[in-house]
Amino acid sequence: MLKATQQMTRAHNTQLVMRTIHSNGPISRADVARATELTPPTISEVVYELIESGLVEEIGFAPSSGGRRAMLLRLVDGARQLIGVDLSRRDFRGALANLRGQISHRIELPLGERDGEAALGLVYELVEALIPAASKPLLGIGIGAPGLVDSSNGILRQSVNLNWRYIPFRSLLEDRYGLPVYMANDCQLAALAAYTYQNHRENPMPLVVINVGWGVGAGIVLHGELMHGDPVGAGEIGHVVVVEGGPLCACGNHGCLETIASTRAIVARAQAILDANPESSLRQFAQDSRRLTLEAILAGFEAGNEDVRRVVREAGRALGIAASYLVGVLGSCKIMIGGSGDLLGQFLLDAMQEELVKRTLPALARATELGIVETSSDMVILGASAMVLQHELGVL
Ligand SMILES: [Zn+2]
Repeated sequence: MLKATQQMTRAHNTQLVMRTIHSNGPISRADVARATELTPPTISEVVYELIESGLVEEIGFAPSSGGRRAMLLRLVDGARQLIGVDLSRRDFRGALANLRGQISHRIELPLGERDGEAALGLVYELVEALIPAASKPLLGIGIGAPGLVDSSNGILRQSVNLNWRYIPFRSLLEDRYGLPVYMANDCQLAALAAYTYQNHRENPMPLVVINVGWGVGAGIVLHGELMHGDPVGAGEIGHVVVVEGGPLCACGNHGCLETIASTRAIVARAQAILDANPESSLRQFAQDSRRLTLEAILAGFEAGNEDVRRVVREAGRALGIAASYLVGVLGSCKIMIGGSGDLLGQFLLDAMQEELVKRTLPALARATELGIVETSSDMVILGASAMVLQHELGVL
């Protein structure tokens, strides 16, 4: 019992020191002691071990400030690598990242028509292509997947599009590769990446990133911690009904946020306008003057087509309804839209703001910040690697 407690204290101290050097380095042992409130002998011991393991290095003396000059410590960014995997796209993607989330090796494998077991096989293929590419010891594997993910147990509960139900990713991959495995929902990881790598840390407000893509989902970071939901489902706003009796959703309900605000819904709603009126001004953007694609919608939007703008405005309003629920629960917060690009994003944002003001207390609406987050194609991979770093080294 005593031994277990000592081991836990030791692990806790190590993480505390790592976190301090990671965020404040180069830093002296004395300053680490001040920041962590650990005793100097404990700091010496922990730092000695971190240097031995190659995670931390001494980089020379600080400029003299009168007394003895202090040796400065720094994290060795490239001391370890980890694998980040993004299963949210039609190309399964993976990459190696270092301790600062710098990506060094990307692999994309097209999913094609695969789902179920075959799609799982593609995940193995991806990981097996990345492991031999690592040049440093691997810390673990982080996975972002669409759908309901039980993060504490590393189990994917359900992913409709991939036809996956109850897949125990953590145990499957840990048995196969002997590396720690962590998993979360893709939108949650995009939020974690925005928080970690896009300077949202200084802002104490809850951060919500709403991803508007083929589906709609959100990730919430509260007090610097990603909310997973217990066991699943935090931020799963795509299936909140925003239009009573609205379009039928894949989940079986009618009028879910996803049926109005996803890019798939925007295309489908514009297509319905064109189908009802083949002479509509939308015709010039359609392939064979009949079929609209997302590219066609974006072109129509840029050209100022009124039908497209109306459909996008409705999408923005629906997002505003969802935002009002979020503000009602979280209080004032920072809500960022990701995934839809700058131009469309700004337009969605304006409609969203208008609706939010109508539906919340004015003071709350004023205190809420809305914005667009740059969601590069690496966001889920970056979030997945941040998750591994947080669990394995205590750094974020
Ligand atoms: Zn739904």
